Amino acid sequence: MAEAARKGAEQTWVYAFGGGTADGDASMKNLLGGKGANLAEMAKLGLPVPPGFTISTAVCVAYYQTGRAYPAGLEAEVNAALAALERQSGKGFGDPANPLLVSVRSGARASMPGMMDTVLNLGLNEAVAEGLARLAGDRFAYDSYRRFIQMYSNVVLGLGHDEFEHILDDYKEREGLDLDTDLNADNWKAVIVRYKAAVQKELGRPFPEDPREQLWGAISAVFNSWMSDRAIIYRKLNDIPEDWGTAVNVQAMVFGNLGETSATGVAFTRDPSNGQAIFYGEYLINAQGEDVVAGIRTPAPISRERAATLGSGDKPLEDAMPEVYKQLRDVAAKLEHHYKDMQDIEFTVEAGRLYMLQTRNGKRTAAAAVKIAVDMVREKLISEKEGLLRLDPSQLDQLLHPRIPSDDENKKAGGKPYDVIVKGLPASPGAAVGKVVFDSDEAFLLAGKGEDVILVRVETSPDDIKGMHAARAIVTARGGMTSHAAVVARGMGRPCVCGASDLKIDVARGEFSVRGRTFKKGDTVTIDGGTGRVMAGAIALIKPDLSGDFGELMSWADKVRRLKVRANAETPLDTRTAVEFGAEGIGLCRTEHMFFEEERIPAVRSMILSNDEKGRREALAKLLPMQRSDFEEIFRILEGRPATIRLLDPPLHEFLPHTDEDIANVAKASGINADELRRRAHDLHESNPMLGHRGCRLGITYPEIYEMQARAIFEAAVNVAKEGKLKPVPEVMIPLVATQRELAILKALVDETANTVFKETGVTVDYTVGTMIELPRAALQAGEIAHSAAFFSFGTNDLTQTTLGISRDDAGRFLQAYSEKGIYEKDPFVTLDQEGVGELVKIAAERGKRTRPGIKLGICGEHGGDPASVEFCHRAGLDYVSCSPYRVPIARLAAAQAALKDSAK
Ligand code: ADP
Ligand code: MG
Ligand code: MG
Repeated sequence: MAEAARKGAEQTWVYAFGGGTADGDASMKNLLGGKGANLAEMAKLGLPVPPGFTISTAVCVAYYQTGRAYPAGLEAEVNAALAALERQSGKGFGDPANPLLVSVRSGARASMPGMMDTVLNLGLNEAVAEGLARLAGDRFAYDSYRRFIQMYSNVVLGLGHDEFEHILDDYKEREGLDLDTDLNADNWKAVIVRYKAAVQKELGRPFPEDPREQLWGAISAVFNSWMSDRAIIYRKLNDIPEDWGTAVNVQAMVFGNLGETSATGVAFTRDPSNGQAIFYGEYLINAQGEDVVAGIRTPAPISRERAATLGSGDKPLEDAMPEVYKQLRDVAAKLEHHYKDMQDIEFTVEAGRLYMLQTRNGKRTAAAAVKIAVDMVREKLISEKEGLLRLDPSQLDQLLHPRIPSDDENKKAGGKPYDVIVKGLPASPGAAVGKVVFDSDEAFLLAGKGEDVILVRVETSPDDIKGMHAARAIVTARGGMTSHAAVVARGMGRPCVCGASDLKIDVARGEFSVRGRTFKKGDTVTIDGGTGRVMAGAIALIKPDLSGDFGELMSWADKVRRLKVRANAETPLDTRTAVEFGAEGIGLCRTEHMFFEEERIPAVRSMILSNDEKGRREALAKLLPMQRSDFEEIFRILEGRPATIRLLDPPLHEFLPHTDEDIANVAKASGINADELRRRAHDLHESNPMLGHRGCRLGITYPEIYEMQARAIFEAAVNVAKEGKLKPVPEVMIPLVATQRELAILKALVDETANTVFKETGVTVDYTVGTMIELPRAALQAGEIAHSAAFFSFGTNDLTQTTLGISRDDAGRFLQAYSEKGIYEKDPFVTLDQEGVGELVKIAAERGKRTRPGIKLGICGEHGGDPASVEFCHRAGLDYVSCSPYRVPIARLAAAQAALKDSAK
């Protein structure tokens, strides 16, 4: 024992555990891996852990640094640890008279389930098997031996599983045997002979008989598995660094396959699917660990309460082995109390004695995470702060959208099984029901008439934004998780299934088909963006429950956060959702969406097509009352919360028709000659619309547009104020400012309009004028610009595009390769790029504050709903973040976590 301690200052590679003590503990996960660290911790707690030792992750690191050679001294340390293990167990490794068998288990710092392998029953050979047979019965001995040969051949020698399955099936058929449990010792002996012959034939050398050779073979196999293809892919997907390495745990075997008083199983201290405090899990009598997951036999539930929820008639462990069950429950309670978190545990019962083989914090659904955190705070196991820090803000996304009932819920409610038409990628969570539409303009028109539509496209492009916004959900046949459709849908909070490649879409005929079934435009479908399913018909959706545990958790978050959270919203529906989700105002109300509506667009077009100011003013006068009523409704819903309203931003050509067909239609409807219309559209064409005649440039060249919008805002505010109950707080935002002069001119225009309205009505409301910082020049000039700006709102979508020189819509083409090569670790349109964009935000904040200490600072890009970006905004000293309504709770929690981490420093 305690090899590590005895060796003093020398590099130690091996750490022992067992017998009520250990060299390591739970804090040493980096060195011992999660499994090894927790085995050590459990041993120290005095729990029944079979003794063993952990070869540290440092060995794995050294192994790969030296072209797969072991560090000097390792062999001696392993030998010493093995000798100590023999002494402690009173058994000999390779000793037929009293054999010690071990398991060799991988265990990295972060759990990588199923990625790396485990070998059980190691140390068996012909002589040892015979010895074991004399001690514990020959059925058990040869069952263990054949298990070992199977596993070792597969994991260490690299032979396929099928080969052995084949041999076994063949043998069973010849002998007329059905189940594995029907085979007696002689049967297994015969199978073992065939297994070994297969190894000899495949590899040209015999199965290793020397236990030490077996041990080193297994250790190397675990280290080698760190670089297996599947492990490499898993690490990529889960952001696990390659240089962490894995540890190897060598542990004395305990036997769950020793007869009817033996068993093996897994348990969770609470239900990982809903968080309920029931003892959850399953077990198998007379079996070894891999049998539970292998699916050969069906495991039975652990507890009566779990059996009851399952409606299972199988005998729970609670009834089969009441003593063991009681002990297991005590251990589970002790572990949960010790780790202060829900535990996922593995155990084995050998001849009526319980052994603990693993514990770790259990994975759980978002719903379970919320319930467990809140329950544990109520149980006084953890503090409110700890409860808040437990949750992954992005995981909340699962809870914030309407969802379809789970298969279980559906079954209970007596519903028919879901009719899944096609499955694609789960690109943006939430469920929606609506009518299939294949065209964005049509989606927009139908939605305007109050229809729920599902936009189905081969893929989407920036031209589809309007339709995507109008649709309840989006489905595409092509494109991955970072495709235009996926990125935009997530930003808008629309459920999305993308890359459903089995869909054959025929836009001309207005239908799509999948494997022989055809669906037409107007057919109703239900989509589940969380699982990627598209289903026929309307499924009754369950609305998110924002009260109860969730509401309580959010109230704790609100107590500790410093950052305020607003939402980006321009429709009454989005504004209402935002308020329900706890938004403290609107951070970005885009006014152009209001122009697209069916009855407005003709006026917008005639404004654009007018040759002179008089004509434009006439058209704008028609738009004024419509825009005013939009703002009135928003101010009423906001009930005195502030609203940052951005004046017109996009280039005007976006409002004109593009295709010949559209041009002909518009010409007919508006009475303008089609050629003239085409010529004007051509005049307005911009080679790079992003950098063109848009934003404040429109306000400078056509002041009457901004004047009309400002008038609509102030008249609306005055009207609502006159109603006597509410005090609207408009914040007028000028977009795309690059110089102080632009803002000064337009602020004067807004102020003048405000004064006129106040004079005309005799009512005054408080308002401010500020700007969006979305150009690098504006960020650098912030000190100057702040002279005219009461607030800066960082438009981080455009600021990312203009700073990195990457267009958001085209980034999908190369971001994948960029992330693989480590150029951008994260998508800069999801997580704020801190070196470029973040730097500019900090510079602008600092320069702006120097000029105007009370200047209000916020961000309104999609980054406002990304937890890492929210943390950045907290540290940069901004006042608020603004994000899509559905992400508001995520931002609230992320802001609370940022504040807690900050004060912990
Ligand atoms: P994984 O990380 O894939 O869960 P483990 O190393 O935990 O792999 O091993 C899988 C299973 O093997 C365990 O759950 C347990 O049932 C069994 N096992 C591992 N070590 C031992 C042991 N010393 N004695 C008995 N069974 C063991
Ligand atoms: Mg395990
Ligand atoms: Mg912009």
